[in-house]
Amino acid sequence: SPILWWVRRDLRLTDNPALAAACEMGRPVIPVFIHDEQVEALGAAPKWRLGLGLEAFADSLGAHKSRLILRRGRALDVLRALIAETGAGAVIWTRAYDPDGVARDKAVKAALKDDGIDARSVAGHLLFEPWTVETGQGAFYRVYTPFWKAVRVREVPEPMTAPGTIPGPDHWPGSDDLGNWDMGAAMRRGAAVVAPHACVGEAAAQGRLGAFVANRIAAYKAERDFPAAEATSRLSENLTYGEISPRACWHAGMRAMGEGKAGAEHFLKELVWREFAWHLMWHSPHIATGNWREGWDAFPWSTDDTAPEVTAWKRGRTGIPFVDAAMREMYVTGTMHNRSRMIVASYLTKHLMTHWKVGLKWFEDHLIDWDPASNAMGWQWVAGSGPDAAPYFRVFNPVTQAEKFDPKGRYLDAWIAEGRQRPSDTALSYFEAVPKSWGLSAGDRYPAPVVSPQAGRERALAAYEARSG
Ligand code: FAD
Repeated sequence: SPILWWVRRDLRLTDNPALAAACEMGRPVIPVFIHDEQVEALGAAPKWRLGLGLEAFADSLGAHKSRLILRRGRALDVLRALIAETGAGAVIWTRAYDPDGVARDKAVKAALKDDGIDARSVAGHLLFEPWTVETGQGAFYRVYTPFWKAVRVREVPEPMTAPGTIPGPDHWPGSDDLGNWDMGAAMRRGAAVVAPHACVGEAAAQGRLGAFVANRIAAYKAERDFPAAEATSRLSENLTYGEISPRACWHAGMRAMGEGKAGAEHFLKELVWREFAWHLMWHSPHIATGNWREGWDAFPWSTDDTAPEVTAWKRGRTGIPFVDAAMREMYVTGTMHNRSRMIVASYLTKHLMTHWKVGLKWFEDHLIDWDPASNAMGWQWVAGSGPDAAPYFRVFNPVTQAEKFDPKGRYLDAWIAEGRQRPSDTALSYFEAVPKSWGLSAGDRYPAPVVSPQAGRERALAAYEARSG
């Protein structure tokens, strides 16, 4: 009887343990993707980008004489229907670690087992299963550096090769048409804006990793903090949909280290930040929904999502060039440099005294590399309410940050058009992307700061002291 391979965030054939295990059983494999309530709940950009990923993945399965069956509904209902249609005796999938995914998968597994189906979940999204990394006291890690030290010495298995053939059934079950799912429907800024910046599919992801290791990894440590330098790998987009495995990235980094490329270890450290984020989410899932640290619920953060200064932040019109450049970068490209993420998050939570959840949500709707664990950890880290967080009193000054990390103003040139004789194409593209209803034009006067770096800093620190005093 056939095996259903329940495809989720593992859109790859290489180093896919779930697929490898399915193929090893020596029976026909039916890959199926389910548009369930979790997919329904995705933000606009992640959902649209997932649609592109599914399209590319269906093509690559096609090239292996296989197919991607698309179905919509509650996961258990869909799987049961497919089992009835195909006579499948087993279902296999790559494990999820987010609280909703974990709850869904547990229930599905228990129900399928009750039905007499061989239901299995396997590792594949992370380097280290979150429950396998423990402190000396048997607890989970709340601080990054000891986590890094604990995993750094571990053996990570070499990535597996893609199966030569994926055996298919004699009769394929019917599939929905991806076009009818309209995955880009919620993209207010229009898919055409972001599309040129997306790098979709397994082959593209491998190309990206190869180019990064060949050309940029050596200088990665020195240049990774400069948002105009294009010094980072940009693999977050592919890692989140599983178009490349973390093991492939890890081993590429290890090989570069072996070749004496100076920045390579730092790349491994960043991959481990991703692991750490999932470790935290697995052990303390409330990281995505509430202040991780105690004592923060009374902090006087505003939750007014439509306050004028929050609208200015979202629209890249705060009057602080670095913040505005970064918000526009995300709007147009669907990603934002890590240094910029920290600065815009700091400006929102500190200078604008707005709750990190407001920013987290905006990111969730606009990032094509949205990752629930890294996004939650990043926001709470900057806000000061998270594990291993930057102390609240360390307020990034967006002006001195720009001087330090964009000394020639290249990032600002790329994204700010107002008041310039010859704005760059990218800067102009922002004004073409935004909805007309925002009333923005490249010829507008650049705004005065909604909150100045100095006044915002003083207000935030006063609130912090009042709270802790
Ligand atoms: P590289 O510098 O090339 O790093 C390699 C890989 O390591 C990345 O692809 C990523 O998987 C991982 N990594 C690097 N930095 C971090 C980090 N700080 N935390 C976790 N993993 C990291 N990352 C996401 O993938 N999705 C998000 O939704 C997300 N939201 C964030 C929100 C905030 C407020 C902050 C401060 C950070 C957020 N990050 C998020 C982390 C980080 O900014 C991105 O992973 C990074 O910018 C991706 O670019 P890159 O692939 O070129 O990274």
